[in-house]
Amino acid sequence: MINIVLFGKPGAGKGTQAEFLKEKYNLVHLSTGDIFRFNMKNGTELGNLAKSYIDKGDLVPDEVTTNMLIDAVNANPEAKGFLFDGYPRTISQAEALDAFLTSKGTENTATIALEADDNILVARLLERGKTSGRVDDQDEDKIRNRYQEYNEKTAPLMDYYKKQGKFHAVDGIGEISEITERLSSVIDNL
Ligand code: AMP
Repeated sequence: MINIVLFGKPGAGKGTQAEFLKEKYNLVHLSTGDIFRFNMKNGTELGNLAKSYIDKGDLVPDEVTTNMLIDAVNANPEAKGFLFDGYPRTISQAEALDAFLTSKGTENTATIALEADDNILVARLLERGKTSGRVDDQDEDKIRNRYQEYNEKTAPLMDYYKKQGKFHAVDGIGEISEITERLSSVIDNL
C-alpha cells in the first residue's frame, strides 16, 4: 500500500495533480475540501458547520475534520492506497493521521509538496473564483486569510515530515503534465 500526502498552499494545484496521480498509481483520492463542499451543497449538518469556517477562509476544527477523514478512509476498504489532498493541515491532524494509519497496519509513505510563489497563487485563485463558484476564492481578503492560516498552522508540517525523512518538494510552476512528471519521479523513487 502506498499512501501519499499531497502538500501545498491553496491554489498550488493539488486537486489538479491528484486527478492524474490517482489514475496512474491506482489510489483513492481524498480531498477534505471536496468532501466539505459536497456536504455544504447537500445541506448536511457537517456541511452547515463547515460553511461558517470555510466561507471566511478559516480552517475547520481539527476534530471535525479528522473524524470526517477517518470515515472517508474506512469507507474504502478495498483501496490499494490513498492520496490525501488538503489533509493534514495542522500538526494535530498530522499526528492523528499517523496514529490512524498505524492502527490500520499501514503508514504515510511520503509527503510531496507543490511549491509556488504566493503572488502567483493569489492571482490563480482569484481567476479560479470567477468560475468555481467558491466564496472563498472570490475575495482577496479571504484568500489572504487562507494564506495566514497556512503560514501559521500548516507550514510547520514541513518540519514535522522532514524529521520523519518523508518530505519531498517539487516545483509547482509549469505545464500541468510537466508537474505530473516531477511528482511521478518522486513517487517512482520511493
Ligand atoms: P481546499 O479545497 O483544500 O482549499 O479547502 C477549502 C477549505 O476547506 C479550507 O480553506 C478550510 O476551510 C477547509 N478545509 C479543507 N481541508 C481542511 C483541513 N484538513 N483542516 C481544516 N480545514 C480544512
